Amino acid sequence: MPVSGLPPYDEGNIFARILRGEIPAKTVYQDEYALAFHDIAPQAAVHVLVIPKGPYVSVADFSAQAGADAVAGFWRAVAAVAHKLGLEQSGFRVLTNMGHDSGQEVPHFHVHIFGGQPLGPMLAPRR
Ligand code: AMP
Repeated sequence: MPVSGLPPYDEGNIFARILRGEIPAKTVYQDEYALAFHDIAPQAAVHVLVIPKGPYVSVADFSAQAGADAVAGFWRAVAAVAHKLGLEQSGFRVLTNMGHDSGQEVPHFHVHIFGGQPLGPMLAPRR
């Protein structure tokens, strides 16, 4: 069951297609829980996406529905990706968008890893 108020998982979303190998991605890392690949439109010197292999729409869906192994495995993969990219010393940012106000474009849970440069303030100042 999807989390209340969220759309059901769409098997045709672009990240589902990447997981099925139907469209290419520049893979950085993968294990049984997660796949990481370069964002197609990078917004920092390093911009990598990490997605769970299971069908979850958002962080809320993933947190509510995924098993403990999948949750732990996913977050360990995020750390492994940052390590593999050599970002631990300089630092990095992990971000996830969920739903309308965030501007989430792809309805498969993913986190963005940004790094490789000073990243500035977390959000643009409120107007
Ligand atoms: P979000 O707005 O959090 O849903 O972010 C979706 C991200 O997916 C954006 O940063 C896009 O540039 C990225 N993206 C969309 N299609 C692809 C693709 N085929 N390969 C890699 N990244 C993609």
